[in-house]
Amino acid sequence: MPRILFAASECAPWVKTGGLGDVAEALPAALAHLGLEIRTLLPGYREVLAATRAAAELARLEPCGEMPGARLLAARLPSGVSALVLDAPALYDREGGPYLDAHDLDWPDNALRFGLLCRAAARIAAAGLLPDFRPDVLHINDWQTGLAAAYLHYAGAGTQGEPAASPGAAARSTAARPRVVFTVHNLAFQGLFPAQALPGLGLPQEALSPQALEFHGRLSFMKAGLQFADAITTVSPGYAAEIRSEPLGCGLAGLLEQRASRLYGILNGIDDVTWNPATDPHIAARYDRDRLEAKARNKEALQARLGLAADPTLPLLGFVGRLAWQKGIDLLVEAAPRLAALPAQLAVLGSGDREIEIELRAIAARWPGRVAVAHGLDEALAHQIEAGADLFLMPSRYEPCGLNQMYSQRYGTPPVARATGGHADNIVDCTPEALRSGSATGFLFQEISAEALFAAVERACAAWRDPAAWRALQRNGMARDFGWSASAARYARLYEELLRAPR
Ligand code: ADP
Repeated sequence: MPRILFAASECAPWVKTGGLGDVAEALPAALAHLGLEIRTLLPGYREVLAATRAAAELARLEPCGEMPGARLLAARLPSGVSALVLDAPALYDREGGPYLDAHDLDWPDNALRFGLLCRAAARIAAAGLLPDFRPDVLHINDWQTGLAAAYLHYAGAGTQGEPAASPGAAARSTAARPRVVFTVHNLAFQGLFPAQALPGLGLPQEALSPQALEFHGRLSFMKAGLQFADAITTVSPGYAAEIRSEPLGCGLAGLLEQRASRLYGILNGIDDVTWNPATDPHIAARYDRDRLEAKARNKEALQARLGLAADPTLPLLGFVGRLAWQKGIDLLVEAAPRLAALPAQLAVLGSGDREIEIELRAIAARWPGRVAVAHGLDEALAHQIEAGADLFLMPSRYEPCGLNQMYSQRYGTPPVARATGGHADNIVDCTPEALRSGSATGFLFQEISAEALFAAVERACAAWRDPAAWRALQRNGMARDFGWSASAARYARLYEELLRAPR
């Protein structure tokens, strides 16, 4: 069984800003369950240190370029997976988010913060930093760990990415170099820094060529991963196809097209223990596909919690997510008055764009009892919306995978979603044929517009008013298996294939 080092910049439940944090928690746990030896490397942010008090020191990393020295601490995630915590207080132990400060601005030293994470990953993977753990595969995620592939590449060439004791040592390190899998969770965030950052990261000048890390005069961590990984994966087959052309290629479509034979789409799974309506501790009444009547009590509870009218005859539409252009939240804002007038109720939970927050508040004020908006991160309310809503809205412009459409299918709350990325891969549109064959699970629309969203909701509401069709649709979604085991098995196969194949 291959040994895997999984490196990520966030990992639930210790630190999470989005889907990456969920994947970094669940995928290593599912791989460990398959028998792989796996350790997860992550930065020692303040909340990670607080969760891992008194962790033992395993190794030290010497300073390099402008990056300080660091310690590697041994810890264990609540999932049972071994964690390697990269402790460098000057870079990570501070008040604020993993990427942004209190004013939502990028930390000015992000190149060094994530450069150090990448260098640590490369040192563990190839330099024998941990004598009892020499990974066969380094699995890195998104731009924050992309540069690890470059450190390994240049270390093999005997440059300063990793100090080679002798010419022979460089050759040996190439032979022992682990395979690198780079997973793109969102290509739009690329980790671009001024070219002048390069020496501070301890990489050679040649790394700044267009065939390496240079991207329009800047240094791209994302490009490092795409350029030098042995395999690139993205989180759905649909997104893997979409990023091979613009605009979703975000300027990198040419490179992805060039690497297409090494590009794979593997759908994310969900945590089906946490997201299970039969056992969910956050919701008012638990239910499953054979006890769907109890779902109505969750709608009443949600209406009461959010100050919506206690009216079972109105369809209740839910939204949970970042208030971001990517999520099509502006389309929802535009459609909201017409949705309220349908008539329908709308429950929105999200944080992000301040202007959108203000617009949403104004709509809620104009439609009391019909539209409710909650701001901030609220895990319990997210579960209550999944359970209490009748329909779940996801008008995303693009969606590498998306988790909420899987949660909502599992909660008997059919999604109304734009047909992009993971949505198109795991929602079956409710056509009359799909309903007859028992495969329909939701409603897809193509065009990026408030009109197309509204038309899809109208179509969904018509189905909602047909109890037999609606039950069938709910039960189809609830019967599906969205757990991690199939995806984890796919990753495990990919690791094996890479280890068997010549470079
Ligand atoms: P992304 O990573 O693009 O934000 P995903 O759908 O992949 O989107 O994952 C987002 C995760 O974060 C989901 O589990 C979603 O329910 C959760 N989430 C997003 N916003 C909130 C919020 N305001 N409160 C609670 N959970 C949220």
